[in-house]
Amino acid sequence: MKKKNNSGLNAEIKNNHMQQLADYREETLRPHPELRSLFLEITPFCNEHCLHCGSRCGDIDVSGMLTKDEIITALKQVKRDFNIKRMRLCVTGGEPLLRPDFFEIMDAANRLGFGWGMTSNGTLIDKEAAKKLAETGLRTVSISVDGLKETHEWFRQSPGSYEKTIEGIKNLLEVNISHVQITTVVYHKNIGELDAMYEEFKKVGVRSWRVINIEPIGRARENADLMLSKDEYIKMFDFIRDKRFESKMEVTYGCSHYLGTDMEREVRQWYFLCNAGVYTASIMYNGDIGGCLDIERRPELIQGNIRTDNLKDVWENKFVNFRNDFRKTGKCADCPDYKFCAADSFHTWNFDTMEPNLCMKGILF
Ligand code: SF4
Ligand code: SF4
Repeated sequence: MKKKNNSGLNAEIKNNHMQQLADYREETLRPHPELRSLFLEITPFCNEHCLHCGSRCGDIDVSGMLTKDEIITALKQVKRDFNIKRMRLCVTGGEPLLRPDFFEIMDAANRLGFGWGMTSNGTLIDKEAAKKLAETGLRTVSISVDGLKETHEWFRQSPGSYEKTIEGIKNLLEVNISHVQITTVVYHKNIGELDAMYEEFKKVGVRSWRVINIEPIGRARENADLMLSKDEYIKMFDFIRDKRFESKMEVTYGCSHYLGTDMEREVRQWYFLCNAGVYTASIMYNGDIGGCLDIERRPELIQGNIRTDNLKDVWENKFVNFRNDFRKTGKCADCPDYKFCAADSFHTWNFDTMEPNLCMKGILF
């Protein structure tokens, strides 16, 4: 079967585009990074216990959690020091809605003028919560659904959660949140359900479905049997490519991984560029400042703490290793794709072996 060409671009044009992006990364973005996405980990607590959780919610030391006042003070400083009209505040957890003062914080953020979005498991979004979310200015929301009912609940160790999650999505659609997206982590046990999920989610009425592969990080590293095989990766990417614009529900891949010339632009609307530390920073539940919440929390990757440091100072003067080529080593050192890939996503990098935990070379190209 002939592969769909969603982008309408041939290899030569794609390579030209990727070269332009690589030049932009080196000449503009790394020397002059611009904070466009600020992640706020509002709580480490979660009411689910996912087998793949990248941040190991529930297993971590939760002492020193930021208070409401500390978060609002930090947001005021961000407003003072950055152009928040060009920035998106992305609230995440744990499960954000578990935080008792969640709506007070988000109301304050809204009044300060932040455009904000949220990731959630959806289980706590009843009609009342959906209404309050709309009133506090929620613009974009991504809800996790990791399979059909049985697989989803097993993966998230959360019996009875599937219906609540779907109900939560419907409640968000009812109050007209402008962008409601489902995110699915694909792993060994749910890859056979992709077609059935596609039909289910279309019926729910969402317009966007983000499909991403499980990553060998966080809790998932202890569950090696969940990882996809080479054939399963290919199956997942072919699925996204085939379904991408087939209905009103757009199917898309996430920011993870350089995919090689053939697949780049066929499964997402942009070329690969890891935003960590060049467009993206994060404030963790305890105030630590990092590049992206999906990155392993090692001391050498924590850039400061919002309690003691000014985010603008940290953004302008730290983040050095996010803006250089220190990962051009091991198998990446002589890779001809390095110019486009730059050692792939930061979250996939193994800082012990100094090689990527997962790379699509040898799988997709
Ligand atoms: S570290 Fe991973 S999740 Fe974060 S911006 Fe980079 S590719 Fe995306
Ligand atoms: S070997 Fe490194 S540079 Fe080459 S494609 Fe893989 S991650 Fe990217």
